[in-house]
Amino acid sequence: MPTLKESFWDPIAGFGVTFRTMFRKPVTEQYPFEKEPTAPRFHGRHQLNRWPDGLEKCIGCELCAWACPADAIYVEADSNTDAKRFSPGERYGRVYQINYLRCILCGLCVEACPTRALTMTNEYELADNNRADLIYEKSDLLAPLLPGMEQPPHPMRLGETDGDYYRNATGAVDDSTASEQGGNQQ
Ligand code: SF4
Ligand code: SF4
Repeated sequence: MPTLKESFWDPIAGFGVTFRTMFRKPVTEQYPFEKEPTAPRFHGRHQLNRWPDGLEKCIGCELCAWACPADAIYVEADSNTDAKRFSPGERYGRVYQINYLRCILCGLCVEACPTRALTMTNEYELADNNRADLIYEKSDLLAPLLPGMEQPPHPMRLGETDGDYYRNATGAVDDSTASEQGGNQQ
């Protein structure tokens, strides 16, 4: 036999949370019609950065791929030549893919990259209706050309050696405006 409390009070008390919430301001976000900015250091889609003359920072070393715990990165390097140069130094990333079906956005690949070629943006809309489109190619990941940049291949404009680029020998690189544009540098 239920007690008086169980018969009368408990059913009303069950609605207590409902009644209290009815008078609070709704916190519903109207996504995707209204998009809230992410935290500045949010780990979103990756970006392959460029030097200020447009050459690619990626040297195809594959360290990002080896660091990835989800085996989400695939890199194939090729050699630069004086006639066909994509990055300072010997090699560049001819094929660069990130599989966002696997990626857990941990950022370990960014930590492993020796040239700051790879950073992460705040872009989080990485859903699609088929698996193939979630394998991002180099063309999807490369940073856009900014004013003053040339589309590679082209000769090195910021120095005669890759060391000049890394040491900023010509003073062309302002650290605050390096071509990690649009990224959170993580
Ligand atoms: S963020 Fe993490 S899981 Fe994604 S590609 Fe980089 S290392 Fe791999
Ligand atoms: S993104 Fe960085 S770590 Fe990955 S292949 Fe290019 S240079 Fe190497």
